[in-house]
Amino acid sequence: MPEPTNIKVIVRVRPYNQREKEQNQRCIIKVMDGSSLLFDPDEEDDEFFYQGAKQQYRDISKRTNKKLTMEFDRVYDTDHTNENLFQECTAPLVDAVLDGYNCSVFVYGATGAGKTFTMLGCENCPGLTFLTMRDLFEKIQSQNATRKFDVGVSYLEVYNEQVMNLLTKTGPLKLREDANGVVVSGLVLKPIYSAEELLHMLTIGNANRTQHPTDANAESSRSHAIFQVHIRITELNTGTKRSVKLSMIDLAGSERAASTKGLGMRFKEGASINKSLLALGNCINKLADGLKHIPYRDSNLTRILKDSLGGNCRTLMIANVSMSSLTYEDTYNTLKYASRAKKIRSVLRQNVLKSNLPKEFYVKKVTELMAEQERL
Ligand code: ADP
Ligand code: MG
Repeated sequence: MPEPTNIKVIVRVRPYNQREKEQNQRCIIKVMDGSSLLFDPDEEDDEFFYQGAKQQYRDISKRTNKKLTMEFDRVYDTDHTNENLFQECTAPLVDAVLDGYNCSVFVYGATGAGKTFTMLGCENCPGLTFLTMRDLFEKIQSQNATRKFDVGVSYLEVYNEQVMNLLTKTGPLKLREDANGVVVSGLVLKPIYSAEELLHMLTIGNANRTQHPTDANAESSRSHAIFQVHIRITELNTGTKRSVKLSMIDLAGSERAASTKGLGMRFKEGASINKSLLALGNCINKLADGLKHIPYRDSNLTRILKDSLGGNCRTLMIANVSMSSLTYEDTYNTLKYASRAKKIRSVLRQNVLKSNLPKEFYVKKVTELMAEQERL
């Protein structure tokens, strides 16, 4: 059996928008198959598209095009729907959450690349958050003869390094650390009893998001939005309890502050967004290198995401890109970032409240971990 990995990185390519269509730009991404793509292909040399598709970086020095073949866990071309992504990527995470693993989905990419479309969808195409939450409640209902579920929700926004509660429109909230990790001071979870209620909270929170138009995209969101479902599962026959968390994170645009021609407040927003994303990138790089010290503390985003990256969490990173050469730099940077994240691998363990378990359990776990360590 392949080693369980705690991060899956997928790339989603969005179709041309109106402006890209009108400007008749070159296509800079060719999806080769379900898990690889060619960045910056050379149009006249089609056979190169298929040669050496497994090679990480193809350097053909005589040509100016980068022609980089990149591999990911999955690459979704423009004809794939949110439903496709849900079926293949987040439905398995719902199962993992109910098995006791913290899970997170986050969307990364430049403004306009399709992050919010992926998470929230559009009028006739529900996004991953909706589909995933509906699935979660269906599965909860199918299991409630043997297990009790206590569900709570929180929806936070990190904007200019300030943490706001999107459900109550209060903040800024302070972060502090205790034995269980990072705690958001003053955050009270909203108890939830149905998928409808959960989605209603999502709608309330979305209405409270800080949104400002920028030059790059009139509908851009300059904040990071973190929607988290906290579930306490009690096994009715043994009394074992475990607490798990499913997080859906819509990150702010990853483009450089310089490319959004803002001044004053807008510039500060850009700078903070970059600070948070830079910190996230640093954490990803260190996790990828297998280093012990991960600088989660460098930004509020990474502090909140501490248990969503590496550690005891299954993470799905969706890198959103456009295939138009109008966004060449952004797409290149997003793909580089995603390639780096792909290397993170760590051993998973379920969340179980220890006091409810017999001693043999720990002995078995420790033996398993030692064997795992030996193997690694
Ligand atoms: P972001 O949140 O990354 O800034 P959006 O999700 O708002 O970007 O997407 C920008 C525009 O592109 C929106 O009008 C959105 O509807 C459209 N779009 C994004 N991804 C897709 C897709 N896969 N299919 C169709 N339209 C898309
Ligand atoms: Mg958005």
